Amino acid sequence: MIGKAKQRFPTVFVSHGAPSLLLEGGPACEFLAGLGDQLGKQLGKPVAILCVSAHWETDTPEVSGAERPETIHDFYGFPRPLYAMRYEAPGSPALARRAWQLLDAAGFAGIVDPKRGLDHGAWAPLKLIYPDADIPVLQLSIQTARGPRHHVELGRALARLRDEGVLVLASGSAIHNLRELGRDGAPAPWAVAFSDWLDQAVATGDTESLVHYRQKAPGGARAHPTDEHLLPLFVALGAAGKAAGKRLHNSFTHGNLGMQAYAWS
Ligand code: ZN
Repeated sequence: MIGKAKQRFPTVFVSHGAPSLLLEGGPACEFLAGLGDQLGKQLGKPVAILCVSAHWETDTPEVSGAERPETIHDFYGFPRPLYAMRYEAPGSPALARRAWQLLDAAGFAGIVDPKRGLDHGAWAPLKLIYPDADIPVLQLSIQTARGPRHHVELGRALARLRDEGVLVLASGSAIHNLRELGRDGAPAPWAVAFSDWLDQAVATGDTESLVHYRQKAPGGARAHPTDEHLLPLFVALGAAGKAAGKRLHNSFTHGNLGMQAYAWS
């Protein structure tokens, strides 16, 4: 047991956009900058944050167990100020062990990586959501080859952490096709159609359709040529108490980069 929350935090999926989001501003940035307060109105701050980022891909589930996780600048060719940014939240080796135990009990061969820091899928949105960096953060990796359902199961295995005051924060992108970027404010019809479908599937708790989004959704394979930026959403869904969620934010950046965010209670 890590802590005891009065109320459980919803599980949350956010789109982290380009690494330069922090310099660009815009509606998604403003939304993320208000999210900590929005969650905190009734719940205060979480005891810790378990962040599932699209930017940590491994063969088997891994949790980061560093005491002082370093800020990883895992991107190339972006403006220099981004490389000077740090997010110096503490880690939580105790929570990493607890997450590992839950994964083990559910039959996952998990690993705790004692050195892994925070990639930009974690620290960039967290810098906006909880700028004080005073809440312990650890990461969970994704297994892209194993597809959406595996990630729903990972979320289910870790759901009990929510009873202990942990915020499950999934970070990816609602739409992520880097070959189809364009002008701000001008999403293509296929991107809007996919985002509408995603809203609907989340709102109705249609887990089966979500898991098969590539076949079921209009523009599914175009919105996600590869799965990894949507897979964190399935962990948030799996860790939720009920399948129906709600959209917290809706915008696009760089034309078709979907910045939608969702929460499940
Ligand atoms: Zn990304």
